[in-house]
Amino acid sequence: MLTITDFINILHRYYRSPLVQIYEIEQHKIETWREVYLQGSCKPLVFISPNNSLFDAVYSLIKHKIHRLPVIEPVSGDVLHILTHKRLLKFLHIFGTTIPKPRFLQKTIQELGIGTFRDVAMVHEAAPLYDALEIFVARRVSALPVVNEAGKVVGLYSRFDVIHLAAQKTYNNLDVSVGEALRQRSLSLEGVLTCYPHETMEAVIDRITSEQVHRLVLVDEQQFPRGIISLSDILQALVLTPAGRLCPPTTPHPHRMPLPGCPGAGRALCLPRAQVCIPCRQIPWHLRMP
Ligand code: AMP
Repeated sequence: MLTITDFINILHRYYRSPLVQIYEIEQHKIETWREVYLQGSCKPLVFISPNNSLFDAVYSLIKHKIHRLPVIEPVSGDVLHILTHKRLLKFLHIFGTTIPKPRFLQKTIQELGIGTFRDVAMVHEAAPLYDALEIFVARRVSALPVVNEAGKVVGLYSRFDVIHLAAQKTYNNLDVSVGEALRQRSLSLEGVLTCYPHETMEAVIDRITSEQVHRLVLVDEQQFPRGIISLSDILQALVLTPAGRLCPPTTPHPHRMPLPGCPGAGRALCLPRAQVCIPCRQIPWHLRMP
């Protein structure tokens, strides 16, 4: 699979400044990227056979924390389909009308605690786009709530939005602000859609399905961000948890694990794979430890 995440990693690696063109993006072969950057750290392809169940598909997507699951015919090796959270939830939403609804759907988000409420990765609207890419590289999050000076949610910048940089060939300037990038987005597929802690799980699922988005930002009455509820959380709660399958929580964030010789926990962002610790003053404010 070659996905937007690879494009983000390539951009993040080769970007220098708006004055330096990123020739590598246009000239490198995919093969070169695999050899030079991934250097054997290439993970095996996660796929599923058409004979597997939809439950297996949900489990695989959540366990491996991936967003695309190829369905591969075992004999021919042909790729028949690419399964996503959205397709699976849509199926459940349509098919689910014929079976009794689980009672917990009537409970509120606050009561159920479904979603992520701590360490929500966010980006300031005035921050350069490069900062957003940096967070995507450091953390496995698929979108960042964009906040204004007052800390209120004013937008959402997702990994998918990065593709506009390729489509519009604007990747040579990542110094542009996140707010500006949102305004330039020619086709706004995923606007910022929110939900409140007092809303029921059913209302949240209805909204996420009808709006065809991957997540809702949980906000309070003043529009301050309180969390994220994504399709992964919903599928975990609807399909895996009732079957007793709890996927391990996301590995601790890199900045929580100081490397040996690091200037000190809380004063540096430690990236174990790259074996570097970035001094705190160079870390975007939202990644800093309290
Ligand atoms: P996703 O990749 O969007 O399917 O989400 C995977 C997990 O990460 C889910 O548990 C989400 O609640 C969580 N998540 C998504 N976006 C963020 C974010 N910006 N900050 C923290 N956690 C997030």
